[in-house]
Amino acid sequence: MSTFTRNERPIVIAGGGIGGLACALALARRNFQVVVCEQAQQFGQVGAGLQVAPNALAVLEALGAGDCVKRQALLIERMLLADGITGETICDIPCGDRFESRFGYPYAVAHRADVHGALLDRCRAEPSVKLHTDSRVEGYRIEEGGVVVTLKAGDEIPAKALVAADGIRSRIRQCLIKDGEPKSAGAVIYRALIPGKNFPEALQRPYPTLWAGPGAHLMCYPVSNWTQFNVGATVKVAADDIEEGEAGIGEVVRTYTDWCAPVSEILRLSSFYQRHIIRYRDPIDNWSDGPVTLLGDAAHPMAQYIAQGAAMALEDAICLADQVDRHNGEVTAAFKAYQAIRIVRSARMQLSSLMLDRLYHAGGIERSVRNSIFEGRTAEENLDRLAWIFTPPAYVKDWRNRPPNAALFSP
Ligand SMILES: Cc1cc2nc3c(=O)[nH]c(=O)nc-3n(C[C@H](O)[C@H](O)[C@H](O)COP(=O)(O)OP(=O)(O)OC[C@H]3O[C@@H](n4cnc5c(N)ncnc54)[C@H](O)[C@@H]3O)c2cc1C
Repeated sequence: MSTFTRNERPIVIAGGGIGGLACALALARRNFQVVVCEQAQQFGQVGAGLQVAPNALAVLEALGAGDCVKRQALLIERMLLADGITGETICDIPCGDRFESRFGYPYAVAHRADVHGALLDRCRAEPSVKLHTDSRVEGYRIEEGGVVVTLKAGDEIPAKALVAADGIRSRIRQCLIKDGEPKSAGAVIYRALIPGKNFPEALQRPYPTLWAGPGAHLMCYPVSNWTQFNVGATVKVAADDIEEGEAGIGEVVRTYTDWCAPVSEILRLSSFYQRHIIRYRDPIDNWSDGPVTLLGDAAHPMAQYIAQGAAMALEDAICLADQVDRHNGEVTAAFKAYQAIRIVRSARMQLSSLMLDRLYHAGGIERSVRNSIFEGRTAEENLDRLAWIFTPPAYVKDWRNRPPNAALFSP
């Protein structure tokens, strides 16, 4: 915990989601004072399960939140891709000791609120992090010495910098990039949390299973110490005529009529689902305007197929704080360096996630091709193909070994 800070004007972070809180924590650990402005009345996360891949867990560990997350998460023994129609396994990736020694961290599945809660607790323990709720950021004005951040209520915060971690519909991105609404991925996800006691024992597996089939897929795994099962049923649709909200079981199962028994059984465990349109943006080559930059979904929102959106927000957080530290608080240069490091990796995730849409939702001959691609591959060969995703970047691995830059320290 740090008690003195290197900046007179705070760094303001718009948005207190996983990305915003991780960034606040990382900057505080490098002795910068931070103000987090969250629009909601209280900090929290709606939604359900979150896959925490080794590269995400590496960031949480580096920020001191890893143990707390691991206590509540399930460290999975494998990941399974199955054919939704036949139920046959297409690909089985063991995530045990060899996986952990290769990537340095295990693979976890958790309730989203547990990950967010662990970061929030750490932020609350940092005197240099100020957390404001009911504070919607509306815009900014760059001026000598920094940036003035304007809030919806009319207040203004003179700041050293503004980091926009305000999600896929980022208000600050609209001031900076002006690229309008995110795109629909032509799919919806129906989400439900099923109480563990209602979940058939034979289907209670200590790992996530993804059943892939024509125009749809189903993902399922336990969260919150097996007290709940996260169920996400993704269905390809012409999203223009669809609204978000509650959906009855009839709407959900109609796509899955010929699917294998476990899929039908799991889907029928809930009468209602939350319907959510899957959205994304195409990668862009600039996130910054002087002392203002984007982070997480505000910078690179992706379809959820690759399960790396939160992981990318977490990696951004460490990278950004590391660059602000290395540049001794010269934020314009630091943000340029941060985006130069982060844009290609996050863009690759965005593009790869869209490619998984075709793989997961293949029908006809494409489905047979998809299944045949994995035939005869060894576990190690599968991991080779996933290594670019799961391997934590050097700035994450080195974070704990590198003390804050001493050049500006004058306590
Ligand atoms: C169905 C689904 C499943 C997913 N599964 C995974 C997964 O398994 N693994 C994974 O890594 N990722 C996953 N993701 C992606 C992940 O949820 C996001 O990438 C991640 O939450 C982004 O974090 P963030 O902090 O950038 O944005 P958000 O979580 O959207 O947080 C933004 C915050 O900013 C606040 N805010 C918004 N506007 C303003 C404003 N103007 N002023 C102040 N505050 C504001 C919001 O209230 C919110 O608290 C999934 C996404 C979906 C939709």
